[in-house]
Amino acid sequence: MEERLNIVKKLTGLSEDEARTIANTGGLPSDVADRMIENVVGGIAFPMGIAVNFKVNDRDYLVPMALEEPSVVAAASNAAKMARVKGGFNVTNTGPVMIGQIQVVDVRDPQGSKTKLLAKKDDILKKANEQDPMLVSLGGGAKDLNVKVLSTLKGPMVVPELIVNTGDAMGANAVNTMAEAVAPMVEEITGGKVFLRIISNLADKRLVRAIAVFDKEAIGGEETVDGIVYAYAFADADPYRCATHNKGIMNGVIAVAIACGQDIRALEAGAHSYASRSGKYKPLTVWEKDAEGNLVGKLEMPMAVGLVGGAAKTHPAARAAIKILGVKTAMELAEVMAAVGLAQNFAALRALATEGIQRGHMKLHARNIAVSAGATGKMIDKVANKMVDEKRIRFDRAKELVEEFSKS
Ligand code: NAD
Repeated sequence: MEERLNIVKKLTGLSEDEARTIANTGGLPSDVADRMIENVVGGIAFPMGIAVNFKVNDRDYLVPMALEEPSVVAAASNAAKMARVKGGFNVTNTGPVMIGQIQVVDVRDPQGSKTKLLAKKDDILKKANEQDPMLVSLGGGAKDLNVKVLSTLKGPMVVPELIVNTGDAMGANAVNTMAEAVAPMVEEITGGKVFLRIISNLADKRLVRAIAVFDKEAIGGEETVDGIVYAYAFADADPYRCATHNKGIMNGVIAVAIACGQDIRALEAGAHSYASRSGKYKPLTVWEKDAEGNLVGKLEMPMAVGLVGGAAKTHPAARAAIKILGVKTAMELAEVMAAVGLAQNFAALRALATEGIQRGHMKLHARNIAVSAGATGKMIDKVANKMVDEKRIRFDRAKELVEEFSKS
């Protein structure tokens, strides 16, 4: 690592300080970092905060969240506090089921091949399960086979799909191994040629469904309820708004995912492809008013997370975060993440539909602005507080204050 960093330092003119900053891998031992990915020169750390007040399925959780954006942890904690008034979050899941796809081209009789593949389902599943006796011994493994016939730019394709219960694993390696193992058998049965053999990140058989009722008085009255329902209708009607609506959900989901060492690309891909499943990009949440005038929020999305495999096992800080959370299964982690996503969406919509997000956001962002304007040590809070008092949270003002305080 040191040798690589020295080369980069020479090539790019990094100072000694800058190189030392990168070489410091934070909570990750450098030998672990060096094994995780390739060409490692160091690390980059995110702050980890703890969101509080979360009650999910009648259990209290301390939720570790790692991200760079101020106000997210505070917003989640505040939303979770309001949700507690009506009992917190109720979350269910459809089990840890992933899909592995096998692409077969040059098939003479696609529909006939589909029938033949389905007739050989038991043999195909047996072959898949032989690859992972550990998973099978834990009750997981390949459970079913779907076969699709697609009409594509390059003609018809037959796509058998392994339906795999991946237990407490996210499952990509497990499923990919199975898909590769059954490919020769699939070629033999169909007489076609297999190209791709890979998991689908549109994990629509691994859904979480969260619901929470927010007491109208606790959240600021009926006008707030109406504002949030209007905000949802806006997102439902317009993909420009919907992208930001769903981004707010992912602020919570991804922050927990980073803290717990999850594959966040897989989660993002799953979320946004699921949001587009109707052919139009839609919100992952629904917001309605109930008969008493309270606000009801529901979230439904794929949540492919694991406790074995990946960084959840190898990153010591992720392991510690999972311990803080206290989840015992992958789907329990998924359920908490769904609650955080729903809470985060509520917090953003409530702020947007009332005072706007900038007041709370900028207050918390003031310290970052102070730092980028050159404040250090105690001066950071001094500059930030002054800008908040003056309601002028701006870079130019921060610069002036840094100069002023430096003189005094
Ligand atoms: P993995 O292979 O490290 O662990 C899964 C294995 O652990 C199982 O196959 C099983 O044999 C064993 N195991 C032990 N205890 C288990 C339990 N209680 N439940 C389930 N399995 C248990 O990891 P994985 O979850 O198969 O793969 C995840 C990794 O794959 C992630 O790092 C991800 O980034 C990466 N990946 C993702 C994609 C994608 O999303 N498209 C593609 C390739 C790789």
